[in-house]
Amino acid sequence: MAARSTNQGLARERSEAPNNPSPGLYVHVPFCRSRCTYCDFHVASIRFPVMRDYVTALVSEITRHAALGFIPKTIFIGGGTPSALDLDSWDKLLGTLSDHFRSGLLEWTVEMNPESIDAEKIELALSHGVDRISTGAQTFDESGLSLLGRRHDAQRVFEVHQCMSELGVPRTSLDLIVGWPGQDSESVKKDLEAVSLIDPDHVSLYHLSYEQGTWLHKMLTRGSIEPLLDESCIDFSRQFLQGLSEQGYQRYEVSNLFKRGGESLHNLNYWQRGTYLGVGSGAASFHAGERWKNRPDVPAYISANGKPERVDVERPDGFFVVFERIMLGLRLIEGIDLAKIQAETGYDIIDRCSSHLRRYEQQGFLVCDGDAIRVTAKGFEILDAIIVELLEQLERTGDGIGIVESSGSGDSDPHLASSVMDR
Ligand code: SF4
Repeated sequence: MAARSTNQGLARERSEAPNNPSPGLYVHVPFCRSRCTYCDFHVASIRFPVMRDYVTALVSEITRHAALGFIPKTIFIGGGTPSALDLDSWDKLLGTLSDHFRSGLLEWTVEMNPESIDAEKIELALSHGVDRISTGAQTFDESGLSLLGRRHDAQRVFEVHQCMSELGVPRTSLDLIVGWPGQDSESVKKDLEAVSLIDPDHVSLYHLSYEQGTWLHKMLTRGSIEPLLDESCIDFSRQFLQGLSEQGYQRYEVSNLFKRGGESLHNLNYWQRGTYLGVGSGAASFHAGERWKNRPDVPAYISANGKPERVDVERPDGFFVVFERIMLGLRLIEGIDLAKIQAETGYDIIDRCSSHLRRYEQQGFLVCDGDAIRVTAKGFEILDAIIVELLEQLERTGDGIGIVESSGSGDSDPHLASSVMDR
């Protein structure tokens, strides 16, 4: 069955990503019916009265930021399972965002899980201005779906994409996982065939990791599952990338590919170290030079009624800015802009890491042309090791890491007020 997304009715036609999709707004909806076996996110059980109170608190927090003059260029509603909200809560949340921020938005994405998407929720989302829907398929192999603890089958993913196509969703994205125990070349082929039928504008290809506290980690330590060999993970990753490239997908970030101008502007902003606000329990923000998280605690978030407690507040400075630029920027195909980093921080990365850069270049892991450092396809296979080595070298040649702790207070937002003036 062919289930193809269509760009007809695209709210904001674009042939290439705008240079500056900052600031973004992330809205966290942390409710799931059950926990997938690989998941270590901040999630809570689905209970509709709690979810309704949660949306009321979200509306307060969003309204407070809007009153302070915050104007996002992109919105991403993620989770958890945003599509698990009941129809009234869904309408209330989307309506609030639409009333405050719809005009001037470059992109508005919602994450929907296959088991909780329906036509009514999609139509409501489109009517409020949503122009991009991201679904977590993870794999089209039934044994893989069962091992990963997903609550849908492969057929359901085809059905929801058919529905999105019929309703004219402008852009769609599909998440896949590479490296799950039992994955083989045939299942990768099956996933690629499914992508070809669905034809989303964007594919995220994530590597499975065994995070402490997850079901998969427990199964691994008990010896009840056999992890894939690293070589197999690399082989399957190459098979995916090759197959997606043959289907016309272009890689723009280590784990993300697009066609038809379908990059995720919201995520590009993270990798470009742009500013963003996160609303909801556990949501992270980076604004006016400060990073913080809302306390990840759903009852406390509801009680705070729009003024959640901020935790992990820090103001990255000096070396830490360079660190973040390297960690985020090397994920992108465009790499890191050396002149920009030097102008921003005074650090000459080529000067400080010359021997490492030369070695990586000789080994074919990266290209350093004097203006930028870009990781090659071969280098992306060992990206974490490259980043760690460069950061260690920078630390050795530097004079300390400047992180200034500041007090966490959600009472007032002077930094937002000043950023509004900057715009
Ligand atoms: S649906 Fe997403 S957030 Fe929810 S348990 Fe699964 S992976 Fe975690």
